[in-house]
Amino acid sequence: MVDLRSDTVTRPTEAMRAAMASAEVGDDVYGEDPTVRALEERVAGLFGKEAALFTPTGSMANVLAVRTLVGVGEEVLCESSAHIARAELGAHAAYTGLTMRTWVGRPVDLAQIETMFAPDMGPFFVATRAISVENTHNFGGGTVTPIEDLQAVRRFADDRGVGVHVDGARIWNAHVATGTPLDAYGACADVLAVCLSKGLGAPVGSLVVGTAAAIEESRVWRKRMGGGMRQVGILAAAGLHALDHHVERLAEDHANARLLAEACGVDPVSVHTNIVVVDVPDAPAVVAAVREHDVLVSAVGPRALRMVTHLDVSRDQAETAAAVLRKVLR
Ligand SMILES: *Cc1c(COP(=O)(O)O)cnc(C)c1O
Repeated sequence: MVDLRSDTVTRPTEAMRAAMASAEVGDDVYGEDPTVRALEERVAGLFGKEAALFTPTGSMANVLAVRTLVGVGEEVLCESSAHIARAELGAHAAYTGLTMRTWVGRPVDLAQIETMFAPDMGPFFVATRAISVENTHNFGGGTVTPIEDLQAVRRFADDRGVGVHVDGARIWNAHVATGTPLDAYGACADVLAVCLSKGLGAPVGSLVVGTAAAIEESRVWRKRMGGGMRQVGILAAAGLHALDHHVERLAEDHANARLLAEACGVDPVSVHTNIVVVDVPDAPAVVAAVREHDVLVSAVGPRALRMVTHLDVSRDQAETAAAVLRKVLR
């Protein structure tokens, strides 16, 4: 099977399992797990931030991150297909009690953001407290949000005294695809959420990254939400291993994605990272047809096919899948 449904399907490598097995651990709710602390310090440093917090999922990291900027009855602005708006099952409303308004179209559209922005006018309108930007943009097809756009959002937010949240579930892919340093992305955000369990290939784990105060507050809320974990250095060790061995190799996933794009008649230049979205007349039919040839892809709409390359798809497998797709789509 060549599984192109998502980059979340990766299984820990032998070397990652060995790192997990030998991890030094302690009770992390007591702050006594040295491996978790090492991971948190390392990731904070990578983004040029004061602190970070390990969480079980990216969704929890996003909820914790956004709530450091936006409170009950206040709003965050984001793009309409953003993961925080579409794929977290209303968690930000359910836990934080915030509201969202969304712009439609490009991952960053300052003209729309400017029109939507609502200053605090007391007891009349919901006040905008933060702008959230995704990088890379998942439902946008793994597109990189250019650093210039993020910098423009940062300036816009600074001028109005509001915060910036970056959903960086795949920010590692953006970093490798563009060469933009991670701390340059960090400088554009008050708080980020980053995932270890997507392209980096760890079995579990994400982090909230931000100021010491934001992380202290997030630590309280993580426990409140039931996310206080104990000897979790075993999982943090997988993340440290992934940072050592699985970041630069994302370039291979990006090359494999371009190969699949070409096979599907998509301009490879439009494929920025490891996600390929293809318009087809009947997406479920294509999913079923390629499955007959041991290739798994997903339908993300009636006419939209999605393929995601990752650690567990070799060049050979990408070539096999490309041949199958070429045949089926013809
Ligand atoms: C996967 C993902 C997340 C987090 O998802 P979890 O499954 O909760 O870890 C957040 N944002 C984006 C853009 C994602 O793709």
